[in-house]
Amino acid sequence: MLKDEKAVVVFSGGQDSTTCLFWALNTFKEVEAVTFNYNQRHKEEIECAKKIAKDFKVNHHILDMALLNQLAPNALTRNDIEVKEGENGELPSTFVPGRNLLFLSFAAVLASQVGAKHIITGVCETDFSGYPDCRDSFVKSLNVSINLAMDSQFVIHTPLMWLDKADTWKLADDLQQLDYIRTQTLTCYEGIIGNGCGECPACKLRKAGLDQYLTSKQKAE
Ligand SMILES: [Zn+2]
Repeated sequence: MLKDEKAVVVFSGGQDSTTCLFWALNTFKEVEAVTFNYNQRHKEEIECAKKIAKDFKVNHHILDMALLNQLAPNALTRNDIEVKEGENGELPSTFVPGRNLLFLSFAAVLASQVGAKHIITGVCETDFSGYPDCRDSFVKSLNVSINLAMDSQFVIHTPLMWLDKADTWKLADDLQQLDYIRTQTLTCYEGIIGNGCGECPACKLRKAGLDQYLTSKQKAE
């Protein structure tokens, strides 16, 4: 029974991982969150994650991953690199090679320290971005590797894997947290909480999904 078990959520304070946090709080007996600090453009991201964890009394670990920026400077960590969507099959400028590989591996080490068997990540294959380490096949393969590496029985959960942004808003609503996620999470590349700047690719995607969900909800009523 998952209700008797403990989970660690990979948590950034954005829409997706906050939805995963609520999903986990609804699914498991005990939940802890882990946020990776890799000198994100905006310190607001870490502050936002801290506040959400505090609001819901979730034990929150912040791990220093500055080495990621040292290895692979990119648009998420550097102000002098423009945020661009990938064109013609190229990866976007926000891509950090191997980021989820590293994050999930460190999350598994933390999970073993705190006695959690379950790891939750908000990665999503239907996402526009096409990051290779967000794919279902990668997560399943890493799950096997981590279990072999650590002689353990971790289960990596990806509640958003097959959802589009509208479905993710629906899940937030089903979990009775639509308004909270709408106003308290940070997805915007400009570091603006809630509805954000409205102009960057992350804001556009977030708004399009929300509009789509609210329209379909209205029709159903
Ligand atoms: Zn924005």
